[in-house]
Amino acid sequence: MSSLAPAYINAIRAILPKAQMIDDISRRRAYATDASFYQLIPQLVLKVSSIEQMQSILKTSQTHNVSVTFRAAGTSLSGQAVSDSVLLLLDEHWRGHEIINDGQQIKLQPGVIGAQANQYLAPYHRKIGPDPASINTCKIGGIAANNAPASRMRPRKSLLSATVRPVWWVTTTAVASDRVDCSVSISSAFSFRFT
Ligand SMILES: Cc1cc2nc3c(=O)[nH]c(=O)nc-3n(C[C@H](O)[C@H](O)[C@H](O)COP(=O)(O)OP(=O)(O)OC[C@H]3O[C@@H](n4cnc5c(N)ncnc54)[C@H](O)[C@@H]3O)c2cc1C
Repeated sequence: MSSLAPAYINAIRAILPKAQMIDDISRRRAYATDASFYQLIPQLVLKVSSIEQMQSILKTSQTHNVSVTFRAAGTSLSGQAVSDSVLLLLDEHWRGHEIINDGQQIKLQPGVIGAQANQYLAPYHRKIGPDPASINTCKIGGIAANNAPASRMRPRKSLLSATVRPVWWVTTTAVASDRVDCSVSISSAFSFRFT
C-alpha cells in the first residue's frame, strides 16, 4: 500500500486524469527496475503529458515534500531511473523535434529516442554527439541527464553544445566533456548545436 499522504494523492488527482496515474501494485512493479540490478517499487507512477501538468506536479510535490524521479527509457545501469517514491514518465507527448538553421541545430523534446534524432539529422549529414550503445532505445532526456558519452568519437559535424530549457527548477547540475556542454535541470526541450 502507498505511504504517500492522502492530501498529496488528492492534489495529484486534481492535476491528472486517472488514466495517467498508475497506483496498482502489479503495474508499479513493472517500473521497479531499470537496466541496473537495483529494485525499488514506486508508490506512484505518473504519465505527464504537458508542461502545465509537469509544473503543477513538481510544485505540489515540493509543497508536500515528496521526491520525484524522471524516467525516460529506463536503460540506466546504476539505478538512476528507479524510485521508491514517485516516478514521472514523459511518453508520447514529448517526442517533438525542430530542425534549426538548415540542420546546424536541432531542438528535441526529452521523449525522442536517440536513434530517431539521428534519423531526423540524416538528410543534413549530421548526428547528435552522444552515442551510447543503447542509442536505439534510450531517450534524449536520459541521454542528457546521464551525460551519456559517445562510444566512438566523431571526427566532425558532431555535437558542440546542448542546452536545456527548464520547466521548473528543482536541481541544476552542470556536466561537461570535450564534446558535450550541457546544463541539466528538469527539462522540456533540449537544443543541440553542431560544429
Ligand atoms: C546495453 C546498454 C548499453 C549502454 N551503453 C551506454 C553507453 O555506451 N554510454 C552510456 O553513457 N550509457 C550507456 N548505457 C546506459 C544508458 O542506456 C544511457 O546512460 C542512456 O542515456 C540512458 O537513457 P534513458 O532514456 O534510458 O534514461 P533513463 O535511464 O530513463 O534515465 C536516466 C537519467 O535521466 C533522468 N531523466 C530522464 N528524463 C529526464 C528529463 N526529462 N529531465 C531530467 N532528467 C531526466 C532520470 O531521472 C535518470 O536520472 C547503456 C545501457 C545499456 C542497457
